[in-house]
Amino acid sequence: MTITQYFRNIRDGVSSTLTGMRITFTHLVAREPITVQYPDRTARPVREMLPPRYRGHLHVDMEICISCRACESACPIDCITIEDVKIQKSSVTGVDGDTSPKVRESFVFDINLGKCMYCGLCVEPCPTGAIHHTTEFEGATTNFRDLIFHFVTPEMAERTLEKAKSQGFSLADD
Ligand code: SF4
Ligand code: SF4
Repeated sequence: MTITQYFRNIRDGVSSTLTGMRITFTHLVAREPITVQYPDRTARPVREMLPPRYRGHLHVDMEICISCRACESACPIDCITIEDVKIQKSSVTGVDGDTSPKVRESFVFDINLGKCMYCGLCVEPCPTGAIHHTTEFEGATTNFRDLIFHFVTPEMAERTLEKAKSQGFSLADD
């Protein structure tokens, strides 16, 4: 290294240090802080500011779920647990004696959001759009089991199982 190079390196070092310090001092005294005070001081609720395709907590609309289990099969890490029975939705018998076709109805539909990696693979194959991501993202809890979401309430499960029983179906008919 020549003596000229030596002094050039010192000059560059001092210059870059001064540039860094200038930026630091500008932030320190001249600029408004940009820290977002979450959750209660944002101009609008954070949920409203999220992009439309944001993948938050999953939700299942049990009114339109046909218990096809496509979402359960698609999940690569087994977050979804479905248990169902086949029942006849309607007890009406047609003129030719035909009964309404059997459909599947879940009596357990759980998603473990503590395990979920929000990949959306379960949403893609759903034929009815029953399972979808929401913009809910807050899930802090002191009990990990709270993150297992139950989409079939005990009352719904009881109704389904009663209906199946009254129609002579059992879990073994599955
Ligand atoms: S988002 Fe991904 S990890 Fe979560 S339940 Fe669906 S498929 Fe499984
Ligand atoms: S894929 Fe859709 S319709 Fe099928 S079980 Fe899952 S939520 Fe229900």
